[in-house]
Amino acid sequence: MITGKTALVGILADPIAHVQTPQRLNAWFRDHGHDAILVPMHVGADDLASLVQSLRRLRNLTGLVVTVPHKEAFALLCDQLGEGASMVGAVNAVKRLSDGRLLGENFDGAGFVGGLRAAGINPAGHDVLMAGAGGAARAIGFALARADVASLSIFNRNHAKADALARAIQSHFPKLPIAAVADPPTEKFSLIVNATSLGLSEADPLPVPAALLRPGTTVAEVIMKPERTKLLDVAAGHGCRIHPGRHMLEAQIELLGSFVLAGIDS
Ligand code: NDP
Repeated sequence: MITGKTALVGILADPIAHVQTPQRLNAWFRDHGHDAILVPMHVGADDLASLVQSLRRLRNLTGLVVTVPHKEAFALLCDQLGEGASMVGAVNAVKRLSDGRLLGENFDGAGFVGGLRAAGINPAGHDVLMAGAGGAARAIGFALARADVASLSIFNRNHAKADALARAIQSHFPKLPIAAVADPPTEKFSLIVNATSLGLSEADPLPVPAALLRPGTTVAEVIMKPERTKLLDVAAGHGCRIHPGRHMLEAQIELLGSFVLAGIDS
């Protein structure tokens, strides 16, 4: 039951209707006996900074979940960033301390790799092709590098962004063979990751050439809705192992929940 003592957590997004974190995190609060509620907060990019100034003063707010398109902008509004968030330059979880300071962290990469491992897929030793160089891709790229993949190739519509991401990861992991590929790649990869937003719509093209989807390849998604994207459908048809996007969220729910509830009195 929600009472005056219930801890308040918000999720900031634009748009917000499709987000699945409220149902998952509220179920986690309930199942773990936490007197807390996560409420959706729909805010546009232009209003983010002024809203955050006000939220600093909201005394029963313990934390915030941050999602598209606010993750990078919110990192600049935090008073302190955790190790993951400062590497990636984006936050997806924030805790509010009693003096109004905001501490940000990013669990997207840990969620993606944790989701793979929970499904019995160890990314260590894989030759990885990652499509995308946005916020999710940044987090996933760093996490895959940390998880000892054999090599990492990054392919993105905007090649300059793929190049910048490859350089950023390389500066932290100098021994990892890493490359930004300008043209659709043709070589063999054992793990292919879609970290773009392609797949949300049925009309979207595949994020990687279908010829790369070979038997024995694992194909992992970030897209959660639809659960089975066109990429996963085609990959399954070509004999690939498929890994839907929900695993990434499921594997970080506990990390997100514990972090956002640790605000106010920390
Ligand atoms: P960004 O907006 O930061 O990045 C979007 C990425 O998709 C960029 O690489 C962009 O390429 C690419 N892209 C978008 N449209 C096209 C297109 N028409 N053709 C080719 N490439 C395209 O978003 P995020 O990285 O934050 O999020 C990406 C997806 O990941 C979202 O759908 C989000 O819901 C999902 N996600 C899922 C999570 C989970 O737990 N499963 C967690 C976090 C995110 P370019 O750089 O060229 O614009």
